[in-house]
Amino acid sequence: MNPEPAPPLESELLAQAIEQSPLGIVILGLDGHVQYCNQGFLLMSGFSQADVIGTKPHPWNPDAATEAIYRSLLTSELPDDRWKGDVQSTRKDGTVYWERQVVSTLRGAAGQHTHLIVVKEDVSDRKLRRADYAQTRHLHERALASSSNGIMITRSDEDDHSIVYVNPAFERITGYRADEVMGMEGRFLVRDDLAQPDLEHIRSALREKREGSATLRNYRKDGSLFWNELHIAPVQDLAGGTTTHFVSIINDISDRVRYQHALEYQANHDSLTGLANRNLLGDRIEQAIAWAKRNGHVLGVMLLDLDHFKLINDASGHSAGDALLKEVALRLMACVRETDTVARLGGDEFVIILTDLPQPGDVDQIAEKILSTLSRPTEIAGREVFVTASIGVSLYPRDGDHGEILLRYADMAMYRVKEHGRNSVRQFVPEMGSTAISRLDMEGAMRRGLERGEFVLHYQPKIDLATQHVVGAEALIRWQHPQIGLIHPIEFIRLAEDTGLILPLGEWVLAEACKQQVLWQQQGMQPLKIAINMSARQFRQDDLADRIEAVFASTGADTEHVILELTESMVMHDVDSTLVALRALKKLGVSLSLDDFGTGYSSLSYLRRFPIDELKIDRSFINDIHTNPDDAAIAGAIIAMARSLGLSVVAEGVEKKEQADLLTRLGCNQVQGYYYARPLTVAAFANRLREQQAHKE
Ligand code: C2E
Ligand code: CA
Ligand code: CA
Repeated sequence: MNPEPAPPLESELLAQAIEQSPLGIVILGLDGHVQYCNQGFLLMSGFSQADVIGTKPHPWNPDAATEAIYRSLLTSELPDDRWKGDVQSTRKDGTVYWERQVVSTLRGAAGQHTHLIVVKEDVSDRKLRRADYAQTRHLHERALASSSNGIMITRSDEDDHSIVYVNPAFERITGYRADEVMGMEGRFLVRDDLAQPDLEHIRSALREKREGSATLRNYRKDGSLFWNELHIAPVQDLAGGTTTHFVSIINDISDRVRYQHALEYQANHDSLTGLANRNLLGDRIEQAIAWAKRNGHVLGVMLLDLDHFKLINDASGHSAGDALLKEVALRLMACVRETDTVARLGGDEFVIILTDLPQPGDVDQIAEKILSTLSRPTEIAGREVFVTASIGVSLYPRDGDHGEILLRYADMAMYRVKEHGRNSVRQFVPEMGSTAISRLDMEGAMRRGLERGEFVLHYQPKIDLATQHVVGAEALIRWQHPQIGLIHPIEFIRLAEDTGLILPLGEWVLAEACKQQVLWQQQGMQPLKIAINMSARQFRQDDLADRIEAVFASTGADTEHVILELTESMVMHDVDSTLVALRALKKLGVSLSLDDFGTGYSSLSYLRRFPIDELKIDRSFINDIHTNPDDAAIAGAIIAMARSLGLSVVAEGVEKKEQADLLTRLGCNQVQGYYYARPLTVAAFANRLREQQAHKE
């Protein structure tokens, strides 16, 4: 039904209404020529009446497409007698815009077509916004779908955190299909592994509707674990007021975590038996001592060496030897409690730390149990093998309160067993050691020893791998005690540190080494670099550089031929003040070496900042370098890293030709160790150098 026609209006009013309509209105004759256009259209298009009236084709749209529309209207091909649509037009200034048009026909009294009327609206703005929106939406969807991170969008209502979207990477990482997880609570990937401290970060971020990150253990559909480095961020509604959703970005870092764990494990475990290695043993002993000290317990350190292992190895081959070591490791583990530590030092040497012994005598019972367990025959490569062991024992607090001392004493006791027929156990007694001095007497004895000149320096040659020549020496202190004999630094350096005696002692070492250097030069020896060990306490002196400079001045030493050895733990202590101290030392002209490298926690970024010249790879990495590929890899990595930083690399503790050969191949610069020479007296060292010089000539 047609609506009722409006009552006729005054034609003037009608004309005004059309003229002032905010829409553009154009009236065409049946031939398409423009007969009228209103102000709205002129504003929209920028044309003037004169530009427009009487034209065809029309200046705003010269193209023929509109002609076709008109024609179909006039032939009544279109329903409703009208055409609606968006058309691109051109303004007078040449810019293009979109018109939304309604074209219809006017009819005369007899119903015949008389005119075409076009009503236009400029919709460019709307179109642009729409296009923009569609474009960004498309981009977002693409980004979500193609992201290699898993993405999950969840609701953020108080009691509804259900999933509304996951991307394909989420499906790939978790193994769940999108349709399986829709509507589930976002936290379902954690399953019942709720004892994860990091979970609280996420929970509170969700509660407080803010961003949050955490690394979590999550579980795939097949139940396997993956490490999720999760980042969540709130999404607000369009008004920006309330958080309606959360976006979770899921990063599967399992590979990285696995790699880190493997590295840590490798650095702390023996790759053959899986037991703790020397590195970890050091930590464990110190921890066990601290624990025993706090609780007034007795602690046992047991050093176990297999008897005649070399014979088995030689007779049955390496793999048989390895199999035997693995079996021994298993049996040792079975003899002790979980809180005790079993470690392999390398070769056929094992250490057991027995924590919390009710009575010192109990350690003998455990040792007997170990000996009888080991004596059961083992089948190796189809043959029955019998193995026995020699065990030495030391106790905290009876024998000492430092891991290295306890190990050394256990070692001494073990050697007594070897001397007296093997396959037995002995406890350390002070007569076994060279030191018959109790700790209380020690301090006074050292003080007197320093005054009486009982300390001497031995020099261990440092060999250049490329030339095989001695190019330097490390000064190592010894105490020539009138009654006891030669005492090694391991037995007194720590006490000297604790009592502060290390300061005068260290200064004596420095002066003595400098004098020796001058003397050798006067005797016409080739210039050698003398390496001197610094202790932590010395290094922390505020006036260290001044003190050292004074020694150089009084002895006339050539500072270019002095290397000061510092340990990692000394320099990593307080990085900023260390930098100041190191720079002050470098100003004196000396070289700086980082000793025992690999046992501490040096970070590469610090090494870069520190003005050091040399790294000394710790003995513990060199020990098994020729038999253990892990150790070789670690040493290789240290060498490559050091060289990339422009540092010279020294390996210490080289005892075998194979080790030296491997180190040469790895690009190590210098070596030091028993294979070349033990620490030598001044006279022996000079002899050695003379030999070398004679050789060269
Ligand atoms: P260090 O600085 O790591 O010195 C190297 C130690 O390894 C020396 O022990 C040396 O005799 C030993 N060594 C050298 N080659 C081999 C080898 O092929 N195999 C094995 N198993 N060991 C080897 P030493 O002389 O008993 O010194 C022990 C530690 O005492 C030194 O370790 C150093 O930390 C400290 N020390 C020695 N002299 C001084 C000193 O004058 N001042 C300070 N502050 N500490 C010193
Ligand atoms: Ca050293
Ligand atoms: Ca060292």
